[in-house]
Amino acid sequence: MTTTTKYIFVTGGVTSSLGKGIIAASLAKLLQAQGYRTTIQKLDPYINVDPGTLNPYEHGECYVTDDGAETDLDLGHYERFLNVPTSQANNVTTGRIYQSVIDKERRGEFLGKTVQVIPHITDEIKERVQKLGNSGDYDIVITEIGGTVGDIESLPYIEAVRQLRWDLGDNNGLVIHLTLVPYLSAAGELKTKPTQHSVKTLMESGVMADILVCRTEHELPMDLRKKLALFCNVREEAVIQSIDASTIYDVPNLMLKQGLDTVVLKKLGLQSHQPNLTRWNEFLKRHKNPKTEVTIGLIGKYVELQDSYKSILEAFIHAGAENEVKVHVEPIHSEYLNADNIHAKLSHLNGILVAPGFGERGIEGKIDAVKYVRENKMPFFGICLGMQMAVIEFARNVLNLKDANSTEMDAKTANPVIGLMESQKDITEKGGTMRLGSWSCNLKPNSIAHKVYKSNTIEERHRHRFEFNNTYKDQIEASGMIATGINPETNLVEIVEVSDHPWFVGVQYHPEYKSTVANPHPLFVAFVKAALKHKNKNKRATMA
Ligand code: GLN
Repeated sequence: MTTTTKYIFVTGGVTSSLGKGIIAASLAKLLQAQGYRTTIQKLDPYINVDPGTLNPYEHGECYVTDDGAETDLDLGHYERFLNVPTSQANNVTTGRIYQSVIDKERRGEFLGKTVQVIPHITDEIKERVQKLGNSGDYDIVITEIGGTVGDIESLPYIEAVRQLRWDLGDNNGLVIHLTLVPYLSAAGELKTKPTQHSVKTLMESGVMADILVCRTEHELPMDLRKKLALFCNVREEAVIQSIDASTIYDVPNLMLKQGLDTVVLKKLGLQSHQPNLTRWNEFLKRHKNPKTEVTIGLIGKYVELQDSYKSILEAFIHAGAENEVKVHVEPIHSEYLNADNIHAKLSHLNGILVAPGFGERGIEGKIDAVKYVRENKMPFFGICLGMQMAVIEFARNVLNLKDANSTEMDAKTANPVIGLMESQKDITEKGGTMRLGSWSCNLKPNSIAHKVYKSNTIEERHRHRFEFNNTYKDQIEASGMIATGINPETNLVEIVEVSDHPWFVGVQYHPEYKSTVANPHPLFVAFVKAALKHKNKNKRATMA
């Protein structure tokens, strides 16, 4: 096989949640910063065709790409680190692999052969891995294998890696194995045995790790690195520690310091240079040296889980750095909010963001929160369901349509200010059938959105079924909630603003998916700025 693209496989051992995605993204950043066109792909060994049907308690946020793929949240890290859009090709699940193989079987493409895990499933996996490389767009493809080696469901992936390493030849591929080196406080010692066993498990499948990245809470001393190298068949310089960092954005520099990029490039027969991390380090400097702080209430129903609103939390980090402000995000459970406790729960905040979501639970609390901030002129940012709640609140309390609702929550409401599009009405399948991916939107001159984006037309990513009901548009606009962003093809309302308010913006799309370190999202940047202004105004008012 001749190839110009180089392939890096990242596997994990000992336990899950070691941060394979962050290591893959950090390495990709270092390679990109040396001029190598790099992309990252995630292979997920579960049977769902995509994570779109998984609830956030199971799998955290579902990340959406420009081409409308519902994907694993690690793709969000890839985009935030690299500032390059990903696509459906960057996330493949076992469900998708099997679906494709079974479809081929039904079409008779296997010409009467018995269809088997090896070679048919493994061939399909190999094809998906090489699809990005064969596009000619990348010098290096990093493939992260989800799960932990030794899992039954990971086996076909590890086998595909074994075959690919063989097919690609020595200098064209390598394996990075991420493990845990636990610290036993009773013994006062770091332990290498789990890593040794994990490498052995990998070897049983015929895969040799070229590089070990060891997650640890304490510095790995030299003798321990030597021991790991000796027992695990890797060079000493290829034993890299991944020590707990105060921010994930420190990890590229931590990897650079230990030469992970140099070891990788040497093994792949590529030149290494000094990576250009100027923009990255400027961001880090601003992130770590805020001049002041603001507190934003994040109102949602999964707020106890860090991963459910991953992209929103990261977008606040980018926007905070841009404003040189530390953004404290205060999670507020919408289910426990009501008219009686709303003042106590929200009055100290400098702004609120009402989160995306599905279903009825917690929506009345969200509506109460919107009412409070609209009336008290506190900055408001509503995303997707958050925007829909803003429209419902306005219809109920300003237009006096007391039963206004979304047909998602009340199919029989007399005032469906949020409803299903015609094209959605006959859809019965849940997977991949929402309005997904990138859509354009025209902005109304002089609106907040127009000033913030500094553009007449924008492209943003969607993931929802329900929409602003245009039958109510004139009535709503006449009372002061203005549709400031309209989809030019469908006429759907994508942005609403309340005119008599310093910063009240609801968006039907998900701006958080497009915020990156290099390009913080302008709406998040402007919202943080508005929150700061609100804080300073309140401070002046209390001093006066
Ligand atoms: N549940 C709403 C809809 O489907 C909003 C979805 C979301 O917030 N992503 O339209």
